[in-house]
Amino acid sequence: MGKALIIGAGGVASVVVHKCCQNSEVFEEICIASRTKSKCDALKEKLDGGKTKITTAQVDADNVEELVALINEVKPDLVINVALPYQDLTIMDACLATKVDYMDTANYEPLDTAKFEYKWQWDYRERFEKAGITALLGCGFDPGVTGVFSAYAMKHYFDEIHEIDILDCNGGDHGYPFATNFNPEINIREVSAKGSYWENGEWVETEPMEIKRVYNFDQVGEKDMYLLHHEELESLGINIKGIKRIRFFMTFGQSYLTHLKCLENVGMTSIEPIDFEGKKIVPLQFLKAVLPDPASLGPRTVGKTNIGCIFKGMKDGQEKTYYVYNVCDHQECYKEVGSQAISYTTGVPAMIGAAMVMTGKWKRPGVFNVEEFDPDPFMEALNEYGLPWIEDFNPTLVD
Ligand code: NDP
Repeated sequence: MGKALIIGAGGVASVVVHKCCQNSEVFEEICIASRTKSKCDALKEKLDGGKTKITTAQVDADNVEELVALINEVKPDLVINVALPYQDLTIMDACLATKVDYMDTANYEPLDTAKFEYKWQWDYRERFEKAGITALLGCGFDPGVTGVFSAYAMKHYFDEIHEIDILDCNGGDHGYPFATNFNPEINIREVSAKGSYWENGEWVETEPMEIKRVYNFDQVGEKDMYLLHHEELESLGINIKGIKRIRFFMTFGQSYLTHLKCLENVGMTSIEPIDFEGKKIVPLQFLKAVLPDPASLGPRTVGKTNIGCIFKGMKDGQEKTYYVYNVCDHQECYKEVGSQAISYTTGVPAMIGAAMVMTGKWKRPGVFNVEEFDPDPFMEALNEYGLPWIEDFNPTLVD
């Protein structure tokens, strides 16, 4: 069918590459390009010999000219951005210049402020529309599948959705006192920021980790979870009509929180550059360098993740609740693709979103969030490519 250019060669990219190779009818050819080419070559070496033809390249994705030159050389049908959120705008600029479709898994964040919002990327709507190309934003698990679940609930089960609670539980154990399951810099910026939720048309802000609940997760058990700000709250608040409240909760163990508090207290999570022996360094970037590489957690992580959405709303004049979630086993993921479940649950939906655009099922000129497209073919593909979902029509609600 076509060719994709994958930018980034980290934990998520590795799963995307494995999954594209499992779907070679759509991904006849892929080019893996990243800052460190040896990582792209290592992935190629692992997967070469199958039906999908793989090439590699070096690129600095902060540099639009380099990106444009690479896209002109590779001539892909779609660019899959699984580098970091800092590169979203430069890659979108390069896609505009070359008139190639774009997708990513996380919204743009400026390097110097830990503020993630869609406004920068939504500003490209008119330009993408005029160029006749599609940008699909936030197509991992959360954001990503959570938006697809919301569109599916709206399409099949509700006349109106009033409340959504997104619950992200990681019951996995990697055996380290402290490590993050995806890029430590991005992860710590997210969890040390103030929390917020959307209620009656406005944001309610909380202190970091101020709101705690306990929930009994299927196949994982009882876990503490904390309210965080999360990017899909912003798009779902607009795209799910009639919505009154959306919250996002993530589970954290006590050891993780104690370490994080200590690191915060001593200034190690700061993104303000400091002078160190005549050089400027960012404490959080230094911390990333000493923490375990998330890609190395695969072999040692045991347990399961459980991520999903609880909906409350109306159908035929009656109040209704519905919970849809996926349970994913870290070791099963490792056996299949050599990664833990956090990279897996992000990389599988990224491949599916890319396939939706490449096959024309989700192709429309402009910039879109996942919940703006028909959820049905995506839901089918989740079952087919390793993230089957479970429905509960009488779930325990979060107070
Ligand atoms: P990693 O840090 O493992 O990988 C990032 C990759 O991007 C690395 O290969 C890195 O290169 C490359 N990169 C960074 N900067 C540049 C640059 N300027 N030019 C070219 N390549 C660059 O991150 P993850 O794989 O864990 O995460 C990837 C993305 O997925 C992130 O945006 C993250 O926020 C998102 N994510 C989304 C989730 C969701 O559910 N929606 C969940 C988890 C993650 P190098 O090897 O040289 O460092």
